Amino acid sequence: MSHKVFISQEQISNRVKELARTIDQDFSGEEIVVIGVLNGAFMFVADLIREIKSPIILDFIAASSYEGTESTGNLKILKDIKVDIKDKNVILVEDIVDTGLTIKELQKDLKDRGPKSLKLCSLLHKPARTIHENKIDYLGFEIEDKFVIGYGLDFDGKYRELPYIGVYGES
Ligand code: 5GP
Repeated sequence: MSHKVFISQEQISNRVKELARTIDQDFSGEEIVVIGVLNGAFMFVADLIREIKSPIILDFIAASSYEGTESTGNLKILKDIKVDIKDKNVILVEDIVDTGLTIKELQKDLKDRGPKSLKLCSLLHKPARTIHENKIDYLGFEIEDKFVIGYGLDFDGKYRELPYIGVYGES
């Protein structure tokens, strides 16, 4: 299936640098626990932490919010973090906020563990699809309601390796 470049490698790289600069300003050298949401955020988080100058502890979490009916919003943690986030500055890093359910539930779960602060960073956001409101503290790009792939995002497990973001099915 073909796809066209929607956000180029250069655009992503420039935006990642800007986000890292803002994060560094906000935390002024304090340690940050960065939690990447698997699988989609792996590439974004890898690039982001290489631009952040503040000391970092990196961990990953994998969760599914679609067990049972969507509206119940049950969260199933498939892979938990190992680090104790109590009294720590935490940034949760997601690939895309779509309806907002996954990230809302994940934030609730992490908040219960008593972090000093909990911020949300997402590479992409589709405002047209929002059902569950989330404050995205650090946002890469706001996009239209298109199904995107690449730079960590998949379709049926494929295309995660692309260094840019494409729109699936458009050429
Ligand atoms: P939400 O709970 O916000 O509806 O779901 C977010 C998750 O849905 C993302 O982490 C991602 O895995 C998936 N998703 C939503 N929109 C897209 C998209 O355009 N492309 C891809 N590849 N995944 C998406």
